[in-house]
Amino acid sequence: MTDQFDDALEGVNLDTLAIRAGIARTAEGEHSEPIFATSSYVFSSAAEAAARFGGEQDGNVYSRYTNPTVRTFEQRIAALEGGEAAVGTSSGMAAILSTAMALLKAGDHVVCSRDVFGTTTNLFGKYLAKFGVDVSFVPLLDIAAWERAITPQTAMLFMETPSNPLCEVADLGAFSALARDHDCLLVVDNCFCTPALQRPLSLGADIVVHSATKYLDGQGRCVGGAVVGSAEHMAEVETFLRTCGPTMSAFNAWVFLKGLETLRLRMEAHSRSALELARWLVEQPAVERVYYAGLESHPGHALAKKQQSGFGGVLSFEVKGGQEQAWQVIDGTRIMSLTANLGDTKTTIVHPATTTHGRLSDEQRAQAGIGRNLIRVSVGLEHVEDLKTDLQRGFAAIA
Ligand SMILES: *Cc1c(COP(=O)(O)O)cnc(C)c1O
Repeated sequence: MTDQFDDALEGVNLDTLAIRAGIARTAEGEHSEPIFATSSYVFSSAAEAAARFGGEQDGNVYSRYTNPTVRTFEQRIAALEGGEAAVGTSSGMAAILSTAMALLKAGDHVVCSRDVFGTTTNLFGKYLAKFGVDVSFVPLLDIAAWERAITPQTAMLFMETPSNPLCEVADLGAFSALARDHDCLLVVDNCFCTPALQRPLSLGADIVVHSATKYLDGQGRCVGGAVVGSAEHMAEVETFLRTCGPTMSAFNAWVFLKGLETLRLRMEAHSRSALELARWLVEQPAVERVYYAGLESHPGHALAKKQQSGFGGVLSFEVKGGQEQAWQVIDGTRIMSLTANLGDTKTTIVHPATTTHGRLSDEQRAQAGIGRNLIRVSVGLEHVEDLKTDLQRGFAAIA
């Protein structure tokens, strides 16, 4: 964890922070951030070792909790999200786990959006429940249901916006007010937008979590995560990390730093292509309905326009027919990668009902609005015309 900040970067734009924040050059004068591939650090004297271990002196001790490359990543993502501090973690799930373990205790209650990443549902519903943290799942957009679910024990509200795969958009200002009124924390998984398109802390959220695996890297190379928030909260998260160990590796931190340098450019390009593809999909005879907040017809369009600076790279659409037709479209494409991952330069295509949302019962899936004819696309950075051609191939494959 770190909360130091270079004065020269006070008030600069996001693009500059994405490239400059967190750099601490060594005596070698390197221009690109080095990878500190070292598990431990040496001390100049026994007294210094004692002071470092005792926490009286700042400095590196052991890479489970102090590594300069990871620190640079932490400072940079904190700066981009507008948080006082950040903690890098071994994965997005580790970011969510670390947040929960650091800030919740047995007897606490969490209200969680029903429309979050499936593994997040299991983390709260299966594991934290085992340790006496109660969780209620409610539909993302039904703020009245959130309010009804809140009890005096509620310590945290947890959500993703826009949601996966239907791109529903929650009003972060309204949810922040709800959290404040009930004295609980609002935690937002900002994976889909990244700080390039949405900054939940500036809208009143307390904590942002990330799967750096997705857009922060942006090229599908490494697994990692981050938690961003106040120095006080991050000190708690860092203590958990130091004790329990889901640490980001120095190499992965370095890859994420390279990813952050081009984050805004990539998010703009993903958003541009996704909007063009969504508009094109609306026109296709084989398509029943398109879900993308960039479309004026999407119920979340106005809100997304207000609280995001772009609509992101993920869209979904229903084909006419059912699972058979959806599978034929997916199997008919030849450029897109058939994988559940997202946030990559490579466009990915997946059938949510039988993969990412395959463990839900038919009823739960119906409630969440995920039909058997739904296809999700994470629009990459290939030329958009080639993506249309590829989907056209898929539509032509419908028997
Ligand atoms: C992928 C993902 C996660 C989990 O991240 P990992 O890095 O795979 O552990 C959490 N939230 C969202 C929204 C995701 O897409």
